[in-house]
Amino acid sequence: MFKKQKHLFRMSQKFDTIIIGTGLGALSTACLLAKQGQKNLILEQNYLAGGCTSSYWRKGFVFESGATTLVGLEKNMPLGYVLNEIGITINARKLETPMKIHLKNGEILTRHQNLEEWILEAERVFGKKNQREFWNFCYRVSCFVWQTSLKQRFFPPKKINDFLQCVKNATFSQFNYAIYAFYSTEWLLKKYDLLENELFVAFVNEQLIITAQNYLKEVNILFGATALCYTNFPNYYVDGGLINVINPMLNYLEKNNTEIHLREEVKTIVYQKEKKLYQIITNKNEYESKSIVSGIPLNNTLKIYANTSKKLQKKILNSTQLSSAFQMGIGFECLDKQKFSCIHYQIHLENPLPFLNTKSIFISLSHADDDTRTDQKNQMVASISTHWHNPEKILVEDKSILEKFVLDILIKKGFFEEKDIIYYHSSGQKSWEKWTGRMYGFVGGYPQYKNIKPWQMVESRLDNHKAYICGDTTYPGQGIPGTVLSGIIAFEKMRADGSI
Ligand SMILES: Cc1cc2nc3c(=O)[nH]c(=O)nc-3n(C[C@H](O)[C@H](O)[C@H](O)COP(=O)(O)OP(=O)(O)OC[C@H]3O[C@@H](n4cnc5c(N)ncnc54)[C@H](O)[C@@H]3O)c2cc1C
Repeated sequence: MFKKQKHLFRMSQKFDTIIIGTGLGALSTACLLAKQGQKNLILEQNYLAGGCTSSYWRKGFVFESGATTLVGLEKNMPLGYVLNEIGITINARKLETPMKIHLKNGEILTRHQNLEEWILEAERVFGKKNQREFWNFCYRVSCFVWQTSLKQRFFPPKKINDFLQCVKNATFSQFNYAIYAFYSTEWLLKKYDLLENELFVAFVNEQLIITAQNYLKEVNILFGATALCYTNFPNYYVDGGLINVINPMLNYLEKNNTEIHLREEVKTIVYQKEKKLYQIITNKNEYESKSIVSGIPLNNTLKIYANTSKKLQKKILNSTQLSSAFQMGIGFECLDKQKFSCIHYQIHLENPLPFLNTKSIFISLSHADDDTRTDQKNQMVASISTHWHNPEKILVEDKSILEKFVLDILIKKGFFEEKDIIYYHSSGQKSWEKWTGRMYGFVGGYPQYKNIKPWQMVESRLDNHKAYICGDTTYPGQGIPGTVLSGIIAFEKMRADGSI
């Protein structure tokens, strides 16, 4: 009897907005909404917040759940903008050297942040021919993209007001640059006569797969140039792991009228026409709200909310177009931490990874001066990841073969010796599905495809009422900067629609 009453009481709980998930997309919208003084509720199925940008403690080490590289803490970049809006500063170390790359031919390439230093390095490794012209062009495009993206908060436009806002905020140069959405990065390499340079093509492909989730044939120049210049913008490291970006946002939300329920999975969303309210049914309770924001992938959202526009169904990408990740976390002993002049490395493989057929792995280390990632002073943590294409169909029966392959490479490249390894574990698409609830365990967002132009990407509105979506399957939603920007755009469209 008591339980029933409690249930009925809970049924009547009403919120202004209910937000699904605690990924960086959802948290960005949530923080901006909280600043408006709304009474909100966030529902997260996991026991830990942050989704693909989180950290967890295991066997004496703090491992990253997914993301390891961080750009965009400046006020004119998406994450910096949100943090500034809510008055939070993240304690982050700016990295001297953003990344190093072990190429297939044995050469080690340093991705300097400074453009001139980087061009000289690219010329040293790939030859002088047209490198300068290529990188100057890419950098110009990437600066344009970042300057424009925060100004164009109604993109992609759907309503008349969106179009008006886009035009109002447009400059002449935007029309000039828009043309590059029609050309692939492959075309750009051809234009600079670099397509015959095999080493350079392999380099571009492997860099694009980690920043744009696809290869040069598919990624358009606007996204491609921006993705390739990722390391030419300040890169940061956060002590204790990226959970320390998430936690301050959660603290802000809790202090500002937002309830956060962990281990509560949203099962169904129903729009109640008469009441003009959304009914949200979870594994524990039922709630009502005036608006909703889904911070989970479009594939998952459409499974729990049937009242969306039909057009959205057509925008869903299937497993063959998506990727999960094979990931390893390694805790190891290291007596000379300072030997690592850089914390992020991409290693191009002599032979592709068994089963997954990927041609590179990405390794991120804990910072030598960060004492909070391990129990002991002389220990370090490594996070390794690589793509797992078509996660629904490609299954790996024996993960230990992959683990051994990766460990052998890292030992051969001198990251540690076998005797130094204290603990390791790995995860594949099944673990991702469990951790994030994402269909097929796909991660990294919707990849860039040449037949999907920026204005054809998934936009924030889910229906004609007050349901919205953000995260890495919506525009421009890739990596932390794109995901946060999608959260900002969802908020701006809510505000313009009168949904707040
Ligand atoms: C291995 C890996 C490495 C990466 N490396 C980088 C990197 O170095 N730099 C970078 O910028 N980006 C990186 N990324 C990408 C980046 O981490 C993600 O794109 C971004 O964090 C996604 O955020 P999101 O808000 O879209 O979704 P998610 O992080 O997936 O968050 C969604 C949340 O919703 C919850 N949820 C799901 N379903 C439900 C439900 N029904 N009810 C309630 N809650 C639900 C999930 O548990 C999850 O917490 C990486 C990703 C991976 C996987």
